[in-house]
Amino acid sequence: MNELLVFMCDGAPVRGEIVSICSVWQAILERRNDPPAVRKILGDFVGAAVLLSASLKFEGTMIIQAQSKGPIQLLVVECTSDLTIRATVKLSIDAGDISPHATLGELLDASNTGQLVITLDPAKRQPGQPPYQGIVALQDHVGADIRPVTSVAEAIGLYMQHSEQLDTRIWLCSNETHIGGLLLQRLPDSGGHAHLDPEEAAEGWGRIQALGETITADELLNLSPATTFRRLFLEESSQNGVRSFPLRKIQFACRCSRTKVADVLRMLGEEEVEDIIAEQGQVETACDFCGKEYKFDAVDCRQVFKTDLLSDATRPPSSGH
Ligand SMILES: [Zn+2]
Repeated sequence: MNELLVFMCDGAPVRGEIVSICSVWQAILERRNDPPAVRKILGDFVGAAVLLSASLKFEGTMIIQAQSKGPIQLLVVECTSDLTIRATVKLSIDAGDISPHATLGELLDASNTGQLVITLDPAKRQPGQPPYQGIVALQDHVGADIRPVTSVAEAIGLYMQHSEQLDTRIWLCSNETHIGGLLLQRLPDSGGHAHLDPEEAAEGWGRIQALGETITADELLNLSPATTFRRLFLEESSQNGVRSFPLRKIQFACRCSRTKVADVLRMLGEEEVEDIIAEQGQVETACDFCGKEYKFDAVDCRQVFKTDLLSDATRPPSSGH
């Protein structure tokens, strides 16, 4: 399937998306060997990345990074505006055995330091212009109490609330073979839904959310977006109108290249690289996302340091200041 369906309600100020991912998820997993609890969270983040990326009016790459001092040190999911995706996880060296029942809160140290960094890197970024970054703590402050966020859906919902000021509800589910997700977003009452009075608009948002709440994990994982859409919105569609747009394809694609690895070697510095060559004969590295191996022998490395210009991609984002 690997499809995303976008729909728009006529009788409620709501835009929605339904996603189903299977072989693209397999492509991500076949290069990895993560514990089941980590895989589950990665799956939810992949689903969330596609839903989020498709809901932003933005050309370029969206990067969701979860950083913590918990067992998951770093989790990165990248999704471009044409829905190509790649993902990786780095576990802490002292992660130990991770229980299959470990929660998002535990894995990402949500009661303490865990946070999400969401970066929007425009396709046509001016040299030196920093990409847009939003940071969301994985803790919800309720008065004086701190409550760890319990799901990826909740974390992304908080991000949308903070950064886009849009009420967003997300349902996500993933297993070994499939990822499914539903997103509902309340649009401003003006715009395309000016024909609804505030009461009708509020009532419509409530009605569509209630329909969303009927979705089951089984439906999210096993039905195509088109089938889920028909099941959920059959009645709403005939009474108030719901329009669906052409299905969009989701693909796996990595952006790694020999040029980018060469940039990393330049960042390491000539001395460091010469030490590695002296010890190991060559520099060997594998892409964290797709596993592709890159090898640089002594001659390659000399070539790398002949040009001392850093390409823009390796400069820190703050270089524009
Ligand atoms: Zn790669």
